[in-house]
Amino acid sequence: MRTRPILALVTVIAAAAFQPAVSQNLRSAQGVGDPCEFAVLELSDLDRVNARSCANEATYLQISESQLAILPVAGESVSAFYVADASGISPTDYSIYHSESSGIGVQLAEPVIAGQPLAESTATFGSTQAIEEFQDLSLEAGTAKPLDEGHDPRRKAIQKPCISTEYASLGWRQSRPVEWRWSTLPYPGDSAMAGYGAPAIIAARWITTPKSVCEGLPAPGSNGLPEWGPKQNYLGLTSARGPNVSVPPPGAAGSVTCAPPDGFNTAGLYSLSQGFSDRGRPLAVACVHSTVSGGPYDSDIAFDLRRNWNDDLTRCVTPWSPNGVEVYDMYTVALHEWGHVYGLGHVPAITQQIMRPAFGACERMHGLGSGDWYGLLYYG
Ligand SMILES: [Zn+2]
Repeated sequence: MRTRPILALVTVIAAAAFQPAVSQNLRSAQGVGDPCEFAVLELSDLDRVNARSCANEATYLQISESQLAILPVAGESVSAFYVADASGISPTDYSIYHSESSGIGVQLAEPVIAGQPLAESTATFGSTQAIEEFQDLSLEAGTAKPLDEGHDPRRKAIQKPCISTEYASLGWRQSRPVEWRWSTLPYPGDSAMAGYGAPAIIAARWITTPKSVCEGLPAPGSNGLPEWGPKQNYLGLTSARGPNVSVPPPGAAGSVTCAPPDGFNTAGLYSLSQGFSDRGRPLAVACVHSTVSGGPYDSDIAFDLRRNWNDDLTRCVTPWSPNGVEVYDMYTVALHEWGHVYGLGHVPAITQQIMRPAFGACERMHGLGSGDWYGLLYYG
């Protein structure tokens, strides 16, 4: 049973909102001796904090010059997965693991750069032991798994989604059905806000039913294959809460980050534009919170409120809206973010899987590629 007290959450938010040190440059080392308290940790502080030579009272972790993340409390982890737009630029995906006994470990994905192949390396900072405590060893986190040994994406100019069998596991899986709601915030009275839930609901079913754009994939449960893992229950609309993401604190530059968990799985729209010029803001972000022994328990998806979203299942009428702004297919982006929620990481764009890191205007993929299929079959 989840026992995280709501009061503690309120306290964290209040501390974030009223923390006087959160102002000019957000960093406030109080003196040189112990205890030294940071409002914002930097990656270079982690070893000192983990060695307990420093009290850790920080609320934020500075991931890069332009990106700030909210630290999870001890015993919990948080992962943020952004999806890039046609420009191919988005914030860095991050996972922060906060162990009671082993301190804080951080994994950062290489940022996605337009026109370049996805770097597959993940940079690790702080305590690797903390990271391992959160990961299910049977899932071999972060490893791309080409089932076809002869497959070499560099030798084929374009891989169709049904040729590639590449996928990546994030090292955990949802251990129970994801029970979630679609939020009508920030405009609960606007019927369009409710209407945008339809693509997210349908995309969730494409993961759990499952649906593939490929034919002839092996059926789950057949020939000794595992049963299909991903399950979900859509519980309806909510105006009580939105996806728990958060803008940077006053005075800080940077992208929208995952907020502390509220114990509810919520998807909805949120303005992800803060900290970004028009190009380079993410299309969407998924936030997954886990406990050290219990796996994920709070998974939220936020779609950028200020995008033109296509919610017509049969077509994306034109990649440009009348005022010349790109239109993105909400079904495709939702399917990608649900893939993250069920434990899939990114694969190179050339593989044409739903887990490629960026999508262009009206780029549509209404089902899993073969790599996505195998990834969820074995690790979802
Ligand atoms: Zn992604």
